[in-house]
Amino acid sequence: MFPIPPYVHTALAALRDAGYEAYPVGGCVRDCLMGVTPADWDLCTSALPEQVEAVFAGWRLVETGVKHGTVTVISEGRPVEITTFRTDGTYRDHRRPDSVAFVSSLREDLARRDFTVNAMALGLSGDVIDPFGGQADLRAGLIRCVGDPDRRFSEDALRILRALRFASRLDFAVEETTAASAVENRALLDSIARERVFSELKGILTGPGAGRTLREFAPVIFQIIPALAAEAGFDQKNPHHIHDVWTHTTMAVDAAARSPVLRLAMLLHDVGKPDTFFTDQDGVGHFYGHAARGEAMADDILRRLRCDNDTRRRVCLLIHYHDIRPPQTERAMRRLLAKAGREAVGQLFQCWRADSADRSDAVRAENRAVIDGAEAVLETVLAGPSACFDVKSLAVNGRDILAMGVRPGPAVGRTLDALLERVMDGTAPNQREPLMALAAEIINRKKTDKTHKTREE
Ligand code: ATP
Ligand code: MG
Repeated sequence: MFPIPPYVHTALAALRDAGYEAYPVGGCVRDCLMGVTPADWDLCTSALPEQVEAVFAGWRLVETGVKHGTVTVISEGRPVEITTFRTDGTYRDHRRPDSVAFVSSLREDLARRDFTVNAMALGLSGDVIDPFGGQADLRAGLIRCVGDPDRRFSEDALRILRALRFASRLDFAVEETTAASAVENRALLDSIARERVFSELKGILTGPGAGRTLREFAPVIFQIIPALAAEAGFDQKNPHHIHDVWTHTTMAVDAAARSPVLRLAMLLHDVGKPDTFFTDQDGVGHFYGHAARGEAMADDILRRLRCDNDTRRRVCLLIHYHDIRPPQTERAMRRLLAKAGREAVGQLFQCWRADSADRSDAVRAENRAVIDGAEAVLETVLAGPSACFDVKSLAVNGRDILAMGVRPGPAVGRTLDALLERVMDGTAPNQREPLMALAAEIINRKKTDKTHKTREE
């Protein structure tokens, strides 16, 4: 049941042979008990950090967290984090302990850990050391704080988001007292570094229990993204929508593939709706311009959360196009490919489908027909002779243009752009011979234009 890999065993044995206690602990124990292969194995030990370093003298060490008692040892080429038994000192600011105190017992070390399912260690004989009922909670599918939730969340508010992340990822429920306390203490999240908040948010969104967790802990999510709060209970007054905006959003998140970009896009895709809402004379609700408004708001939100630029741009691009009618002609599809890029168009199809997942049966069937139609068009375009959407994929390149006597400089790029335009329009094939001829034509026309201009002057 506990397939401790040889490289971990080697590190454990080194500590034990030197007379210290050492145990696999935390996530790896939880994963093994759930039948999941742990991504990494963390050890805890009675040895002080300098004693750990002495035991592993001559090994490659990474001293990242020595202050907190962690030494990373490279064992047979793989890192093993070794942390001295410790308790956390006082927390002044709801985030990091002001100090840590090394302690001599495993039990005290387990008691400082966040949730019962994360507070177990593996004993020497393959027994599970589980003083807080972690195994029972694993069987019941529950995330429960070790000790009093109010105290644990006010010590470190990041644990509120960790609770949601584990609930989503393991598809567990949050135990009632822990859940109530997480919501109650949500304002403490304002003191947590934005990048740590964002990293937990991505974890929450990409788990199999994301939609459910977002709905159950909406106030916590609105604490970290206040703009989403206006979606809750927002009646769209439109026969195409059967849920309020927030419920629809959480269902769209579940319906999208579990990648950070897609799930962030679905989380934020309708954030512009409350601002752009109006009802026509028949009392039907509309949201003209909500995609552009949402794109701008998402850009702000993601910047504030210190999202990396690449992810932010991709998410915003998807939100920008999420509400267009999927292109039904080759020409329109080529235009979209040229503007958004091949990868984003693929992801857009997923957004369109996820966005209509919770519509009424009739609307969903109609939407699906339109999306399927667009997909067929995309396939035709991609299979065709002009499947080319950037200058790099053209059958001719800058050197060819230079060889035709164009002087180095912006004129080369302009000529290639003109060729690309024709290829994407479908009025020229992406093949070398015809494109060379076309390039010659373009260059000659420019020369003639110039001559005319000079004469007129
Ligand atoms: P993952 O598979 O996501 O890495 P994990 O359980 O290993 O899950 P980590 O964030 O790597 O989670 O933390 C390792 C262990 O350290 C946890 O299992 C938990 O026991 C403890 N821990 C981590 N962060 C905290 C925290 N903020 N408060 C209390 N204990 C924590
Ligand atoms: Mg871990």
